[in-house]
Amino acid sequence: MAHALRRYLRMTTAWTCPFCPLACDHLAVRIGTGDEPLAPEGADCAWARRSLARFASRPAPAAASIDGQPASIDEALVAAVGLLATSRQPLIAGLGTDVAGARALYPLACALGAYCDAAGGDVLMQGLRALQDRGQFTTTLAEVRTRADVLVFVGGLPGALAPLMAERCGLGDPQVPARHVVVLGAAADDAAELAQWSTRPGITVESVPLHGDLFDTLSLLRAHAVGHAGCTGTSTPALAALVDRLKAARYGVLVGTPALLPAPGALVIEAVHQIVGDLNRSTRAAALWVGGGNGAATANQVFTWLSGLPMRTRAGPRGLEHNPWAYGAAQLMADGAVDALLWVSSFDADAAPPAEARALPAVVLGPPSQAPACLRERCVFIPVGTPGIGHDGHIFRTDGTVLMPLHAVRPDGLPSVADVAQRLLAGVQARLSS
Ligand code: SF4
Repeated sequence: MAHALRRYLRMTTAWTCPFCPLACDHLAVRIGTGDEPLAPEGADCAWARRSLARFASRPAPAAASIDGQPASIDEALVAAVGLLATSRQPLIAGLGTDVAGARALYPLACALGAYCDAAGGDVLMQGLRALQDRGQFTTTLAEVRTRADVLVFVGGLPGALAPLMAERCGLGDPQVPARHVVVLGAAADDAAELAQWSTRPGITVESVPLHGDLFDTLSLLRAHAVGHAGCTGTSTPALAALVDRLKAARYGVLVGTPALLPAPGALVIEAVHQIVGDLNRSTRAAALWVGGGNGAATANQVFTWLSGLPMRTRAGPRGLEHNPWAYGAAQLMADGAVDALLWVSSFDADAAPPAEARALPAVVLGPPSQAPACLRERCVFIPVGTPGIGHDGHIFRTDGTVLMPLHAVRPDGLPSVADVAQRLLAGVQARLSS
């Protein structure tokens, strides 16, 4: 008991936020004694505040449901096994979970021959396709913070998708080098944030407008980087100056947010990678992509190390089949190619199954507040804990190589996604072998 109490007190002050791809670990969480919502402490972030407010300090009892009727978790597991084991072609989607959850879902997917795709899988695949095609120079938030002297935000600022981006990049931190920040193709609502950044010590900011669309602009930028702009008559003073600045930098980093890029995002990402490659012939440069939140990047990392292939891979009768275009969840549901869904979303209660899924029998693993999304026929809801709130866990941060530990702030007794997936696997195996 004394051990449990010590552990609980420690966890109220050491916390990694699981609610966006930055996985900040400089905030703490304020916990009350009753129904008060959890709240950030020590620093503020509007997104974290909103997300924490969904959780009461004292967890309320949570029930599973079958076809909209209350059920015990054991009953719901039996119903879920029946639903999945009798499916001819299931889909496991959402994949909002931590490392342990993804590790447990992968063998379940193999046993079922299920397709797998994360929520926001289309965006995730843009970066993966570019990485598969040509590779990339990557960096980490720590390197950006301590070494980058020129930062170029491609296509605008990450805004609400990564609210504390400036802090994580060390903008205005007197302990890190001064740096120049460029926004290439700022969005209309970036102006206020950029103006605020410009007031920070050691920061100069600049907004460079697009010449044509973003891809046109990056093509021109590359022409300048490799010295072809003059030959082709496409010289653009603002882009020429930006290339000069990047070439003179000790460490330039191009930062982009795939979810905010215009279509086709993969082309934009590949153009950025080419410019970074060109710059590395004479100085140091890297790309940093902001995305993969809500467990998407984590599930992709885990599935890749377990199978050798990224998301949108199926372990079927013909072995591993990877198809980044055809195996997207929305596409599969629109094509009628799947007849059951296992939806996993343990971080974001708003990430309910998409509308296309309403016609499918479904098993939903989500926080208790997601129960109303499953009040219908042929739907089994099993409440699960949120990693970093109700139980410990690990997630990959946006920079892809850094695995962050998640600490429970107030254990809630709910099963984790890993617990449920392991029990589903045992049930499915027993059912298929009988
Ligand atoms: S920026 Fe993201 S990870 Fe950091 S505190 Fe805000 S929501 Fe959490």
